[in-house]
Amino acid sequence: MVAYRKTPMYCILLGAPGAGKGTQAALLSRDLGLPRISSGDLFREHIRNQTDLGRQAKSYLDAGELVPDSLTVAMVLRRLEEADCAPGALLDGFPRTLGQAEALEKALAERALRIDCVLNMRVHREALVERLSGRWMCRQCGASFHLKHHPPTKANRCDDCQGDLYQRDDDRPETVAHRLEIYFSQTAPLEMFYRQRGMVIDIDGDQSIEVVSLEMHRALGLVHTFAA
Ligand code: AMP
Repeated sequence: MVAYRKTPMYCILLGAPGAGKGTQAALLSRDLGLPRISSGDLFREHIRNQTDLGRQAKSYLDAGELVPDSLTVAMVLRRLEEADCAPGALLDGFPRTLGQAEALEKALAERALRIDCVLNMRVHREALVERLSGRWMCRQCGASFHLKHHPPTKANRCDDCQGDLYQRDDDRPETVAHRLEIYFSQTAPLEMFYRQRGMVIDIDGDQSIEVVSLEMHRALGLVHTFAA
């Protein structure tokens, strides 16, 4: 889909935990042919593989705190150097602080590259809490389900790969409230950072997965609207 572009395309999905970034990034990844780079998934993979970084990051993830910028930026920039990111990437969950946004901008500018767009997924707080506390993930492929809104066909089994479903520790109610607080204090200011650069496209994330997806595809010029 992006093969005709001469320069790589970088698109950021901005939004609170539970806004639907992972679900929508997976759909866009399929349709744009760009890899989805989720900093949360990268950390969870390091923790599973018991790497040094995984050991350093674990306590932050368990507490719902942000991992320090130095570790996070190095991990994501390293990932962006990998071959599958040559056409660009969809960034999900990164950047999350102004420091990370500045580091990303600088690293891209050093290669004469830039962020193309920031899709800002807006969802009401009550909906975020409800989505996170009912969310179950596939241990194998990372697909996400919701007990009420998007239940798996078979109990505890992923529809896509038949893997086991589990609830993330940080989706438990005590940690959810803290993650949302962190989002609104540390990550929401990023919106202004990118708005000042004219990059933000607001998306009403309170709608169904299908409608949000359509809106995002439209925002990226992947769906044409014909006048009647
Ligand atoms: P997520 O899967 O995006 O909800 O992220 C899960 C957890 O990983 C977060 O609560 C943080 O502990 C950590 N994390 C993910 N992305 C970042 C980031 N950009 N900066 C710092 N910590 C992060």
